[in-house]
Amino acid sequence: MKQKKAYKYRVYPTQEQAHLLARTFGCCRYVYNWALRARTDAFFQRGERLYYTQLAVLLTDLKKQEETAWLAEVSSVPLQQSLRHLDTAFRNFFEGRAQYPTFHKKHGVQAATYAANAFRWDGKKLTLARMETPLDIHWSRPLPKGVKPTSVTISKDCADRYFVSLLVEEDIKHLPVGNSQVGLDLGLKSMVITSDGHTSGNPTFFAQDEKKLAKAQRRHAKKKRGSQNRRKAQLKVARVHAKIADRRRDYQHKLSTKIIRENQIVCIESLHVKNMVKNHSLAKAISDVGWSEFVRQLAYKAQWYGRSLVKIDKWYPSSKRCFDCGHMLDCLTLDIRHWTCPECGVAHDRDLNAAKNILAVGLTASACGEMVRPGRAKARTGTSPRSRKAHS
Ligand SMILES: [Zn+2]
Repeated sequence: MKQKKAYKYRVYPTQEQAHLLARTFGCCRYVYNWALRARTDAFFQRGERLYYTQLAVLLTDLKKQEETAWLAEVSSVPLQQSLRHLDTAFRNFFEGRAQYPTFHKKHGVQAATYAANAFRWDGKKLTLARMETPLDIHWSRPLPKGVKPTSVTISKDCADRYFVSLLVEEDIKHLPVGNSQVGLDLGLKSMVITSDGHTSGNPTFFAQDEKKLAKAQRRHAKKKRGSQNRRKAQLKVARVHAKIADRRRDYQHKLSTKIIRENQIVCIESLHVKNMVKNHSLAKAISDVGWSEFVRQLAYKAQWYGRSLVKIDKWYPSSKRCFDCGHMLDCLTLDIRHWTCPECGVAHDRDLNAAKNILAVGLTASACGEMVRPGRAKARTGTSPRSRKAHS
């Protein structure tokens, strides 16, 4: 079965290309924000819903107006794609996967998407519309032979690094069907704990990076506002942030691939359920972001490899129910890591007990045909991939 897969590489634009990209990013951002405003106004003022087709017509008019004529200086394709991105953001909002779309900021991650009619691909080199020379791409892993990208997204992160993401259709073979199954819980001490007792992703793994970040932030704070040195220190902070994000994502990819490869059925709690336990600490906020990205990876990898991801999106008492005898505690505060069941006397590790319960609920739910929605999380707290990438 053909599946969509994105390949992302670092890219080093020439000065001329960087200049054109800066203008393109600016125009895409302008169009996105303009369309978001138009959609919001149309709805609140007239109760109308504007979609891509109407907005594309309005965009053509916008380019003819004198004060926004500069929009015609860049390729029209990425501008239209911005309207498509907005359609997706609204669909995610209406279907309960994300919050209401927000304006794109000048200092966040910048991106422009080129559909197949706006780039040239000769099997080796990629040239974007309005560019004379191909992009200098650092091919850190090979693109599968014979594929042709269906769309290309070029982006620039807060640390001034450029990336290109090539979307291709690829034949991904399902893995042989196995019979192992696992429940996962997000711990505060380790990122993931499995129902068979494995823990992964100890946050102290990132402690070194966080020290570096704190140091860079202190230096930045000391520099005079508006000075060149402050701008340099700011970039340094952004670079440390980017490095931490890279390492975390890399780690999550390895772990999600391993779990999907090793198990036929993977059961998890949705973030919506997780947030029923309100806790506003920073550590929790960071682990939540990590969790939603991790769940997203599990979902699409499960689809690629023919595995089942069971999301539990109703509230079950996974932590305070004794897995062994079913006894329920009245209350279990977050600081209690270990507890002993008053009914059967079994000593529990908090997270392991929860993971076992999640597996049990997930298996029951999938056997009853309930709640199994591959690739769909009902998490209101989800943010768009764009704002998730923008760490400031
Ligand atoms: Zn018990």
